Amino acid sequence: MAEAFQLGGVEVPAGTRASVDLPITDLSTHTPITMPVVVVRGRKPGPRLFVCAALHGDEINGVEIIRRLLQLSALKRLRGTLIAVPIVNVLGFLSQSRYLPDRRDLNRCFPGSHRGSLASRLARLFLDEIVDRSTHGIDLHTGAIHRDNFPQIRGNLDEAETERMARAFGVPVVINTSYREGSLREAAAERGVPVIVYEAGEALRFHEPSVRAGVKGVVRVMRALDMLTGKTDLKDRRAPLAIRSSRWVRAPRSGLLRSVSPLGSQVKKGDVLGVIADPFGKNEVEVTAANDGIVIGKTNLPLVYEGDGLFHVARHEGTQVVARSLDEFDPESDYESGVTSELADEPPIV
Ligand SMILES: [Zn+2]
Repeated sequence: MAEAFQLGGVEVPAGTRASVDLPITDLSTHTPITMPVVVVRGRKPGPRLFVCAALHGDEINGVEIIRRLLQLSALKRLRGTLIAVPIVNVLGFLSQSRYLPDRRDLNRCFPGSHRGSLASRLARLFLDEIVDRSTHGIDLHTGAIHRDNFPQIRGNLDEAETERMARAFGVPVVINTSYREGSLREAAAERGVPVIVYEAGEALRFHEPSVRAGVKGVVRVMRALDMLTGKTDLKDRRAPLAIRSSRWVRAPRSGLLRSVSPLGSQVKKGDVLGVIADPFGKNEVEVTAANDGIVIGKTNLPLVYEGDGLFHVARHEGTQVVARSLDEFDPESDYESGVTSELADEPPIV
């Protein structure tokens, strides 16, 4: 028998789905603003997983991931509870901004407080209402504006349950990151709720491969947690590469960047990643890799100032292992038949 579940004054019985609007604040026009949440409860008891997006208001890939997740017919056979929060930072989302109107970064304001800044109050609301009702969490992000991320999972791999989720997600790059002060991940960990962060694509854009990899990844984690049935076809060859350090390669001078290293490419120390020149084609300078690694993030904006981060290169050991898993990573492929067939009716976003 599944236990009772209640959110925002709404009772959600086992085997049902409910949409709940959690009050955040009013606009200065007095219009009320709420955080929309969809709760899907399985008939059978199981873990309670939150999946949230747009904690940074301009990172919208995850909003589309959650929309597709909620369409899956496999949810009819769900065990446990899925708490979907497609837009955490509603005010930033409306203004197409990473931040809140008080200019604070929500992901630096956890655990927050009832009497603090608007960002701090929103952080506290999310902890009280969502995290405290959950046993696990997945937080969906993208790169910043004009910056693209290769699909990757970040989490504290020294924590066993987090590591299990990170590996189950099934993208080739998994980065072991310590807790950042003020982040949702840190605050949730302090409450005993393991959270992984999925990073893919760029702010203010839908990127179809990143969205697909995200939907599949969430489903794989739900399978690993026994919330969904179906086998996850992750053979050893798809074992992700755990990365423990990464570094931004910065622009040695200002100018116009011609990038030659795509996201996901493997580079060797000294390889040319791009070339910076002035508008006349004079004074060209090569941007080179400081170490062997994979390009997991890059700028899409050719106009650069000296010191700008251009390429995010993750260090790794065991080049051959990476080579195999990266070459075989294809978010469009049909190897995950269960999920793919359910999404087949959806035309891809181009
Ligand atoms: Zn973010």
